[in-house]
Amino acid sequence: MRKQITMACTTCQSRNYSTFKNKKTTTERLELKKFCRRCRAVVVHKETK
Ligand SMILES: [Zn+2]
Repeated sequence: MRKQITMACTTCQSRNYSTFKNKKTTTERLELKKFCRRCRAVVVHKETK
């Protein structure tokens, strides 16, 4: 049930990270605070397709 997802910066839309999530336990969109190289700051990254 693990699905690979991409995390995109909410400020510049850069796709900086890819990770896995368990669709059974995590049904909502993932939001993680990660460092964005383009923004050069820690910003919220959201799950994309
Ligand atoms: Zn960014």
